Amino acid sequence: MEIRCTQCGAELSVASDERLIECSFCSTALVVDAEGAMFHEVMAATVTANAVPAHLRRFLGGRDTVAGLDREARLERPVLQYFPFWAFTFDSGKGDKVLLQPAAPSSLQGLQGLALPAGKVQKMDPSLTGDAVVIDPEVPASTARDWLTNRHGEVRVRKTVLYHLPLYRMKYEWKGKTYHAAVDGVTGKVFPADFPAKAEAPYMAVAVLAIIVFGLEGLIVSNIFLKFALYLVSAIPILGLAWLTSRKV
Ligand SMILES: [Zn+2]
Repeated sequence: MEIRCTQCGAELSVASDERLIECSFCSTALVVDAEGAMFHEVMAATVTANAVPAHLRRFLGGRDTVAGLDREARLERPVLQYFPFWAFTFDSGKGDKVLLQPAAPSSLQGLQGLALPAGKVQKMDPSLTGDAVVIDPEVPASTARDWLTNRHGEVRVRKTVLYHLPLYRMKYEWKGKTYHAAVDGVTGKVFPADFPAKAEAPYMAVAVLAIIVFGLEGLIVSNIFLKFALYLVSAIPILGLAWLTSRKV
């Protein structure tokens, strides 16, 4: 297959299964897609492996996960890998915008429509990724762009680039079950695949209790001042119960 180098315009012949190549004339890193050759760039990890567990624990201690998860989860060692994204530069009406779309299948949540992290972009070079696994792009650029137009309407893409961005894959164990997440190697942002979520039933119970108590008080007491006094007094144990629920669940 013959392609033209995006940088210098030279004709290059590549095998049909070759996706990531280097121009033999100007040594620019390229990705070969059905649409031709595009620039292939990389952002080296700036978050160190030692700093990764703290980022994950902050997420595990957040509002969506079960209480105490940040203390009780047993974290395995982070494994650095470079994950491919198509980056589309388009005119948003308020200037240029760059949005990323994963170029390989993943169970991680939050990878779609990611903004390009503020880091140093470099030409792809194996010396930058070192021993880390570099995941091959499997999703064609056209498929990723369809997603973009689904979400942002017909946009005029000015530039398409393949980025390999550093992600630390993390496994952790909690109550005999293993969960997966990834930590962005540039921003420290956490992308969970699955996690033990807070149960909603206890919250619903507290909410229903509040509705019943306030409803009954409203029905029984007709004096407006007495009604307010009663509301204030009964709000205290209900708020206490809500606070306890958020601590325990
Ligand atoms: Zn070239």
